[in-house]
Amino acid sequence: MAKVFDNIAAQAQKPFTNEPLTDFTNEENKRAQKDALARVRSELGRTYPLIIGGQQITNKETFASVNPSQPDQVIGYFSSASAAQVDEAVRVATETFETWKRVPAEERAGYLFAAADLMRQRRFLINAWMIYEVGKSWVEADADTAEAIDFLEFYAREMLRLAGEQPIVHIPGEDNQLVYIPLGVGAVIPPWNFPSAITVGMTSASFVAGNTVILKPASTSPAIAYQFVRILEDVGLPAGVVNFLTGSGSVIGDRLVEHPQVRFIAFTGSRDVGLRIYERASKHQPGQRWLKRSILEMGGKDAVVVDETADLDAAAAGIVASAFGFQGQKCSAGSRAIVVESVYDQVLQKVVEQTKQLTMGDVTDPSTYMGPVIDENAMKKILEYIEIGKKEGRLVTGGGHREPGYFIEPTIFADVPPQARIAQEEIFGPVLAFIKAKDFDDALNIANSTEYGLTGSLYSRDPERIERAKEEFHVGNLYFNRKCTGALVGAHPFGGFNMSGTDSKAGGRDYLLLFTQAKAISAKK
Ligand code: NDP
Repeated sequence: MAKVFDNIAAQAQKPFTNEPLTDFTNEENKRAQKDALARVRSELGRTYPLIIGGQQITNKETFASVNPSQPDQVIGYFSSASAAQVDEAVRVATETFETWKRVPAEERAGYLFAAADLMRQRRFLINAWMIYEVGKSWVEADADTAEAIDFLEFYAREMLRLAGEQPIVHIPGEDNQLVYIPLGVGAVIPPWNFPSAITVGMTSASFVAGNTVILKPASTSPAIAYQFVRILEDVGLPAGVVNFLTGSGSVIGDRLVEHPQVRFIAFTGSRDVGLRIYERASKHQPGQRWLKRSILEMGGKDAVVVDETADLDAAAAGIVASAFGFQGQKCSAGSRAIVVESVYDQVLQKVVEQTKQLTMGDVTDPSTYMGPVIDENAMKKILEYIEIGKKEGRLVTGGGHREPGYFIEPTIFADVPPQARIAQEEIFGPVLAFIKAKDFDDALNIANSTEYGLTGSLYSRDPERIERAKEEFHVGNLYFNRKCTGALVGAHPFGGFNMSGTDSKAGGRDYLLLFTQAKAISAKK
């Protein structure tokens, strides 16, 4: 325990910097990753408990998490929590809140610094769990782990900042002070697509601010969430601060969200589930003494816009990386390429050529770029969209799929009308719609024409257009002359507008405020 707190002061003094990515051309790193894959492979198929107040509870009823590259390989069996266990987890979290909220901010931050250290030590193992459980390539898995470490380091420092003296106006005759206090019990509900980073980010933001947590991981990535819960145990986080509750969201989600003792919900996931949570969380329940706060980060239909002044090679590379990195399963994925008429054919050709070079297959092999999509449901849904796309646009590459495993070829439709379904709805797979714009103005209008507003990118060398896009391209994360994925904690606080969520900014200075409430205290002198 002493170790946790020994070096906080020193660590907190160091300015935040992003965790470097692993260089897999280095033979030592390559070997370490291979060894970690072998070790995790030997651990596959175990049964995991719920953890409520530090107690491990294994239910008779379990569900399997499987490897999407090889669905007959079980990653692990996880307990399906019952409604009574949801209530029990909330009860324990409510009780623990009474002590945890009194733990000094410095000490709470200390657990994050210590967890970041352990994540660094276990980096290759955590990567390996992601490679097996969600089909990330080495590079994508490693970036996810790096982001998780970043969140821990960033939110620890942010908590220390918020715990310090806050700037308020001092009036004569009074002592005035503003302090940030926690909210209470939070339901943390992450998605599977950044199974380490988002799980770690939302959970650590919650408890570093003094709240207690019920973490309900996505049912396709619980083993990765479990790695984090173990790290928290290993750094000595008191029992009951983070409770681990696995089970289907459609079975236990409503119960958790509606529970009158739950004070806030931190959710990242799809539009439809986000809307459901928003509605249910807003309904007052008997015995509920607050208005619940909902922090909802949802889907996207992100665009890469290219005008005739752009570096077309850079634009094509950016489009391909944005569309097909992690099989297009990023909320920030650039699923629309909006290109002005005069360079449309050229850009399309370059993008198609590069796309045909992408490797797809076994992600335990470091040379593989694209793995499988997450599960059978996702595969079916994406293949349905591909059929829709065949009617709405012109299939120029891909469209096929391969089994066993849920592999879908990187797919491009050209000449897609801006209002087509594949240009408006989030597909969440490797499907790119190419849309022709008359000119820059038209391109910008098309970019803004969906109900989402998460990320966007413009390739242009025209400074006036760049200035206009800064004002008019309505997205939470706007990029110029680079891909629209790959936000870095601290540098690109992340979160979108409109139907992409509640306008929060993960990895930014405003984020922790969402997990606190401010109390103004004034005393007459
Ligand atoms: P889902 O909405 O399907 O699931 C997200 C989480 O919600 C899972 O833990 C899920 O559990 C749970 N859940 C499902 N139903 C309910 C319910 N009724 N009540 C409470 N919780 C429930 O999303 P995905 O996991 O498929 O993630 C992909 C989505 O996430 C995409 O739309 C993507 O754009 C978005 N996303 C947004 C980001 C952003 O920052 N804006 C970042 C990353 C992803 P279970 O798995 O058991 O169903």
